[in-house]
Amino acid sequence: MPAKTATSVRRLSSADARRSDLYSVETVVAPPEKLKALYDADGTAAGLERARKSIDETASDGDTPEVEQADRSCTDKFAIAFDIDGVLVKGGKPLPASVGAMKYINGDNPYRVKIPYIFVTNGGGKTEEERCIDLSRQLQIEVSPGQFICGHTPMREMAEVYQTVLVVGGEGEKCRVVAEDYGFKDVVTPGDIIKSKHDTTPFRKLTEEEYRNSRERNFDEFTIDAIFVFADSRDWAGDQQIILDLLMSKNGRLGTRSETFDEGPPIYFSHNDIVWSTSHEHSRIGMGALRTSVEALYKELTGKELTTVAFGKPQLGTFGFATRLLREWRKETYGIDEPPATVYFVGDTPESDIRGTNEYNQISDTDWFSILVKTGVYQDDKTPRFAPMEVCEDVLEAVKFAVRRELGGDS
Ligand SMILES: [Mg+2]
Repeated sequence: MPAKTATSVRRLSSADARRSDLYSVETVVAPPEKLKALYDADGTAAGLERARKSIDETASDGDTPEVEQADRSCTDKFAIAFDIDGVLVKGGKPLPASVGAMKYINGDNPYRVKIPYIFVTNGGGKTEEERCIDLSRQLQIEVSPGQFICGHTPMREMAEVYQTVLVVGGEGEKCRVVAEDYGFKDVVTPGDIIKSKHDTTPFRKLTEEEYRNSRERNFDEFTIDAIFVFADSRDWAGDQQIILDLLMSKNGRLGTRSETFDEGPPIYFSHNDIVWSTSHEHSRIGMGALRTSVEALYKELTGKELTTVAFGKPQLGTFGFATRLLREWRKETYGIDEPPATVYFVGDTPESDIRGTNEYNQISDTDWFSILVKTGVYQDDKTPRFAPMEVCEDVLEAVKFAVRRELGGDS
């Protein structure tokens, strides 16, 4: 056994964990032979699982995650999937019930049982690994990429399909970094286009930092094969101008205009939530609103309908993906090699969380049970458009409900 050094220990929930700590063992990519598949949840689940292991190896090098130390057995009957914004976190801070709920499902409950769980968020803008570091700190538990799906996770599978892509949204260069991390070969940002042709967006000027980071290109020399909206746009006007320029182009060559308006590249959104829950007292508009806006503008400018694709909840593919991730996670962590009989999904958005869970329940062998919590976009005075199977005040009440429904008695 090699000597262990205390300096190599990086708990993800510790204040000084950094992204580089995750990469000291293995770079996280899905297996190349799997990348050609357009929507291969098994491959991605396996890739994420390897990432989880590499983190575990790094984290356990002299230290063991708290949850593994607890003397608790794990239930093989059911599992829980959590939405994040409006359920566990709001405005970047954990909601009051979150830490208690995590402790509860990690064995601090009257049954002394641990419940397997994963996180399924439509949010994005960072790598899964970085988001897990954030979440680990916020919830005071160790969250691994093998437990985590965000809106743009399925885009990982499309890296081999397209040569050059436009990536829109997020802070600074972060989404370019995520896309390159996913294996996309040639990533263009709106900043690259503005730097190369400043009058593309008449009212948007790049900041010094944006100018420095953006890459000047000769856009006459290549085409852009697809548009990916990875995270929320920070500049709707400029980003929409560029997106529309491309959608109306001849085969994705900037500066050209199609005569038929059916030659533009495809556009993918990482989710379709019109609103989301932040620290503001009212819900804020999100990526689904941008999608609606782009579609409306395209119709207005060309007279044609635009077909767009959105991933994330409530798309059933996302729930299928979650099922596979959960299966891998239960197998690797607890040695349970069977699907759970029931998965409880705890969410705050009827249109994505509840709708997706209910519809997936119709086609899945596993029972998917939707629980709506009142800490996010849900408003007490409105009847949700998609009816949850249960409504709870907050996430702690939700997990207590699920455990009580499965194991009976008082909890
Ligand atoms: Mg939410």
